[in-house]
Amino acid sequence: YQAKEGGGSVAAYDSTRDAASTDQLALLAELREALQADDQLVLALQPAVDLATGAPTGVEALIRWQHPRRGWLGPSDFIRPVENSEQLGTFTRYVLDKALSVAAGWARDGLDVPISVNLSARSLLDPRLPAEIADALRRHQVPPHKLVLEITETVVMSELEVIDEVLANLRRMGVQLAVDDFGTGFSSLAFVTRIAVDELKVDRSFVIRMADSPEAAAIVRATVGLAHELGLRVVAEGVETAEQRAALVALGCTAAQGYHFFKPMPADKIGAVLGSLRDSAESNVFPLRADG
Ligand code: C2E
Ligand code: MG
Ligand code: MG
Ligand code: MG
Repeated sequence: YQAKEGGGSVAAYDSTRDAASTDQLALLAELREALQADDQLVLALQPAVDLATGAPTGVEALIRWQHPRRGWLGPSDFIRPVENSEQLGTFTRYVLDKALSVAAGWARDGLDVPISVNLSARSLLDPRLPAEIADALRRHQVPPHKLVLEITETVVMSELEVIDEVLANLRRMGVQLAVDDFGTGFSSLAFVTRIAVDELKVDRSFVIRMADSPEAAAIVRATVGLAHELGLRVVAEGVETAEQRAALVALGCTAAQGYHFFKPMPADKIGAVLGSLRDSAESNVFPLRADG
């Protein structure tokens, strides 16, 4: 089985892992309907904040599926089968379109915050992706640097050439790239030397273990140092406690995301949150301002 998206370079469908489970086939059929009906797949939005000022540094879009019969589904319930299906291209365009329409609304409200979208590594095997993204950016009138694509390096060596070419094209367009779950892959460091990226996201597993594991703390410190040396932004993921926040600040980390700050929220809530974050960050920076 060859997925249609991306032409012949797409790796063969792994029939042992995803078995022709009837449930997954049903799920994919339902996803096709959901993509057409356009009223079931929604984005949850989670701000990342500057640890010094509290200002929003970006907002990540996280997909949710309000399934008519199965209830609320998260990415772990359906992303894997989608990645292995010919619907991946449609799904990726759908998510990008939704995310950019949200970001276009912020610009209209005078909010200057980039939006981060998670991309399946497999969608980077489609050479048409950069042109599609360019088209979506134009349609929504969002400047390319306001879009951050979050990528986890989970690709096999044979696919590197295609993916590097797609990523290079995206960079030439001015889109930003982030390495998601940094430190968890086999070759996070190689990824950073191969592709010029803009941001490293410290995986939640290190943030959780930082307090009791010197190894985890060392990885966070090293990632922060690497980002600093390379002039990249660094964002710690999954921060749930004030202790973790303080430990990250002590390690020099400048931005973070997690339940301690905000849980992912619906699109109709995010504008107000970004507005008040910006306003309170401004009054932190200028504490004596009379009009603050
Ligand atoms: P990720 O990109 O690393 O996203 C972070 C995950 O951690 C999200 O889970 C988020 O809701 C969760 N999270 C954030 N803060 C906290 C915290 O303080 N504590 C805990 N326990 N969790 C926190 P979610 O939304 O279930 O997404 C899981 C993964 O699914 C994402 O990991 C991402 O790799 C993938 N994903 C999400 N949306 C999309 C999408 O639109 N397209 C693709 N291809 N993948 C997506
Ligand atoms: Mg992410
Ligand atoms: Mg992550
Ligand atoms: Mg993760």
